[in-house]
Amino acid sequence: MKLQFWGAAQTVTGSMHLLQVNGYNILLDCGLYQGRRKKAFEINRTFPFDPTKIDAVILSHAHIDHAGNVPSLVSKGYRGPIWATPATRDLSAIMLQDSAYIQENDVIYVNKRRKKQGQKPFEPLYTKFDVFESLNLFQSIGYNRPFEVVPGVKAHYREIGHMLGSASVSLDTDEYGQFKRVVYSGDVGRHNLPILRDPALVESVDFMIMESTYGQRFHETPDQARATLKRAVLDTHKKQSKLIIPSFAVGRTQEIVYALHELIINNEIPKIDIFVDSPLAVNATEIFRLHPELYDRNTQDFLDEINSRDPFGFDSITYVRDVENSKALNNLDRPAIIISASGMCEAGRILHHLKNNITNPHNTILFVGYQAEHTLGRKILERHSIVPILGEEYTVKARVIKIDGYSTHADHNGLLDWLKAAQTRSDLKKLFLVHGELEGARALANAARMQGVPEVYVPERGQAFKL
Ligand SMILES: [Zn+2]
Repeated sequence: MKLQFWGAAQTVTGSMHLLQVNGYNILLDCGLYQGRRKKAFEINRTFPFDPTKIDAVILSHAHIDHAGNVPSLVSKGYRGPIWATPATRDLSAIMLQDSAYIQENDVIYVNKRRKKQGQKPFEPLYTKFDVFESLNLFQSIGYNRPFEVVPGVKAHYREIGHMLGSASVSLDTDEYGQFKRVVYSGDVGRHNLPILRDPALVESVDFMIMESTYGQRFHETPDQARATLKRAVLDTHKKQSKLIIPSFAVGRTQEIVYALHELIINNEIPKIDIFVDSPLAVNATEIFRLHPELYDRNTQDFLDEINSRDPFGFDSITYVRDVENSKALNNLDRPAIIISASGMCEAGRILHHLKNNITNPHNTILFVGYQAEHTLGRKILERHSIVPILGEEYTVKARVIKIDGYSTHADHNGLLDWLKAAQTRSDLKKLFLVHGELEGARALANAARMQGVPEVYVPERGQAFKL
């Protein structure tokens, strides 16, 4: 058995790992590499193996950095099964279409420039038709239901509490009567997050591939997050101003909406208009509604208390899909909370809301997710006095705050606790840390060694290991 790391190796993007067993090739995740344009262009278009020689793809969850390059694989001839939990399949359906739209628009912009320079136009990385073809290959299967991946390899999904439908993957391999278990963590979630269930523990494992995004960081608790959100809403109401929340459309938006709903029901915040202004967020919320079987006990109880109570729907919330209604929010003359994408303020309708509200000192910009380097979100968060929005410069006068506690990645302690639980139930031989910047992954590697894992690696892209 051979394991080779082709993505999220010493970085946090483009997850893709190749497991070879009994002459079969199994791909664990097929994520889009997101980063500097030129590098992303090359990495996403060129697979380091022949896509037609892959026998099965197993997805851990629907985030674009884990599933976003599946349509490229299919456009290059892959026709095998794409395994996913039902919610991962449903979320992939809307997220991959959204991604195709971005890919198609991206080349329009680049090709304009290339045409002027007399160069040949680029094809988009993939189109919506490649997405439709991919969706046809999906095979949905719930948690804890073993399935045969290829002869000699059985797999099952376990809840990992990171996003709706997210899972760790356990692979039981049989090579000429030698039995081994490989576990791929996907992205490890956290305990006590709104809506989502807690990560399930791994029963036994010989070789573990684990993420390390927050390998050397610590989060505030979900309760602290809730308290900050409440204070921000009270302040907005008192000042009769606007609270602007840039948020990822899938997952984070639904958590915030549910948290606000709970605060309203408990009479902890006054009634205030809430707008979710993002077509993708609106679609994603529909999919959240389709999967109450995945909610944690609190959210399921919340559904029970009064018939037809909807975690994501209540009197004061409006979901905005069309552009006209989105524009109308610019002229709103009463206090409001506006939740809009993209989460790092790189594109989308959030830009219009920032433009309209960032120069007013009574307003608040509330960040609820990670802001990568060089993004507009990061600039605002670092309180640059002047920031560029849609080609013009704006002075940042609004209050800027952030909440760390909604992160759906386990922090340093969370990862080690999850690992420890697996160690106590089995004889873990090798641990591979992926999906983390080098520094964080190394810090976690040291801690894992101290915790008794005999061999820990932070593989480079392309590095292969015999198991
Ligand atoms: Zn993820």
